[in-house]
Amino acid sequence: MQTEVEGIILKETLYGETSKILQVLTKEFGLISIISKGASSYKSNLRLLSLPFLYGKFLINYKKDKLSTLKGGKALKLYGSGSNNINIYAYMSYICELTYKVLQENNDKSIFDILKNSLDKINDGLSCNVIKNIVEFKYLDYLGITPNLSICQKCMKPMEAFAIDGKIGGFVCVNCYTNERKVPSDFLKVLNRYQNVDISEIKEIKISKENEEIVNEFLREYYQTFSAIHLNSENLLTILDK
Ligand SMILES: [Zn+2]
Repeated sequence: MQTEVEGIILKETLYGETSKILQVLTKEFGLISIISKGASSYKSNLRLLSLPFLYGKFLINYKKDKLSTLKGGKALKLYGSGSNNINIYAYMSYICELTYKVLQENNDKSIFDILKNSLDKINDGLSCNVIKNIVEFKYLDYLGITPNLSICQKCMKPMEAFAIDGKIGGFVCVNCYTNERKVPSDFLKVLNRYQNVDISEIKEIKISKENEEIVNEFLREYYQTFSAIHLNSENLLTILDK
């Protein structure tokens, strides 16, 4: 079936001498694999349509659950281009790789909007790290590992958040506190904002450096402990952080 899809290329794999297999998150079908024949050749008119982080409309021969074939299309935006900021490129790589892994566990096409909105906001110059954390929070629902932030993770009672630890899955109350990281009194509100914000609505980001760092650390440990996801691009972010 020949059809047009709107999508973002998450990943490319070289195939044969000049072809590429693209992993594309589409609005219509979620994640699909598309072969772009001859895409690495300079003469090919598919070359500029077959780049990682490209958002575009793709005309394809669609085969459900199989390899679709790219026929043509229109490039709408190449994320990260025009920026020689390696930071932005690294964060986009990370978010695209994470998205690809999440889609392998849950190919839900509503993830398209989360990805597109987050790349748009990074492109607009908003904090890469905060946008990354918002995306990570939202993906926990798709992975089926939403943290329960209303109870203490040790005594399992409703509580006022006193400290947090990603390895135990959330907050601990003042009675159970041992060596977890203490949080400011309004910290639950901060986390709720991360979970519930509509990324497309974000105009500016106001968060203290301390809160931003606690959230980032919590998510890093939470993913390591409760998800099976490990990302190559995480190393790049760690290097950049230093
Ligand atoms: Zn407790």
